[in-house]
Amino acid sequence: MNRKFRDIDETLNGLNHSTDAHFKWLVTVLRYVTNRDVELPEITHDDAHHRCEFGQWLKIQLQEERDDRHFLVDISARHQRVHQACRDIMDSIDRREVASPSYDAFEAALLAFTESLSRFKVHLLQLRTSYDALTGLPLRRILDESFDSLNMGQNDAGLYLLLLDIDHFKKVNDNYGHLTGDAVLRSLALHLEDNVRRSESVYRYGGEEFIILLQAKNDREASAVAERLRRTIAGTETVSGEHTLRITFTSGLTRVHQGESLREVLERADIALYRGKHGGRNCTMLITKNLDCINVSN
Ligand code: GH3
Ligand code: MG
Ligand code: MG
Repeated sequence: MNRKFRDIDETLNGLNHSTDAHFKWLVTVLRYVTNRDVELPEITHDDAHHRCEFGQWLKIQLQEERDDRHFLVDISARHQRVHQACRDIMDSIDRREVASPSYDAFEAALLAFTESLSRFKVHLLQLRTSYDALTGLPLRRILDESFDSLNMGQNDAGLYLLLLDIDHFKKVNDNYGHLTGDAVLRSLALHLEDNVRRSESVYRYGGEEFIILLQAKNDREASAVAERLRRTIAGTETVSGEHTLRITFTSGLTRVHQGESLREVLERADIALYRGKHGGRNCTMLITKNLDCINVSN
């Protein structure tokens, strides 16, 4: 499963679980207020916000290098305020103050905290929709949004786009059923991701079409990578229920030149892919900017 997709799910699960833990913490506070028999550091200590279950989860998240850090920093500040406001209430109870502004402050702190949690959750859920639920791969939207910056950042090292399409996939569905077709797509996604570098990305472009952004110095190196992928997949068996099957794919490979839009690059890769399909499939077609196209599988 795609690492980023898995990370989103893990964060969502962790967030839900630790939010529940904070509701439980509130109940513990009530118990503590009525019956202060044991000292509870997650309520009374100055650093209680680091000691409660939510705080411990948050601390781990903040130790990681991540794009969504600003959400977590905001949550952390508001979470700390909840704990501070709670201690203020207990102080006011000790002083036997009946009407205290500390109750209003506690309510405001709780609302601000839950608001920041909701904001982060909405962000994660939106992000999740940019990934394919079947394969876990990023969808075309992520490629559209990130392509220009990827092109600028990696162009010196050499960036190539590989557009691949499963051969006769309709027959897989027709002969073995859609569930087996789905299993094939999942297995292909897994094997493609396993066979590219961590810094290279595989996208589900649509149906049975995938895109890979490869780093390679020149056409020869990029062709070798594309061919290795093609052979690996052609040699891989997918087991689904009682069926065991192999698939092949045809691909169009092209260099991404500085300043080119995704559309220009895709149009070229698509021409190459189309030629590969007409030339018999199960091959890698390399196409230049001048639209010279060669079959590098021969
Ligand atoms: P070609 O070699 O020319 O690419 O032939 P093809 O059969 O692969 O191409 P075609 O475009 O005719 O069929 C693509 C099939 O992919 C049709 C569609 O039902 C199937 N497909 C697309 N998305 C999914 C999916 O998520 N799951 C399953 N099981 N099938 C899918
Ligand atoms: Mg297709
Ligand atoms: Mg196809």
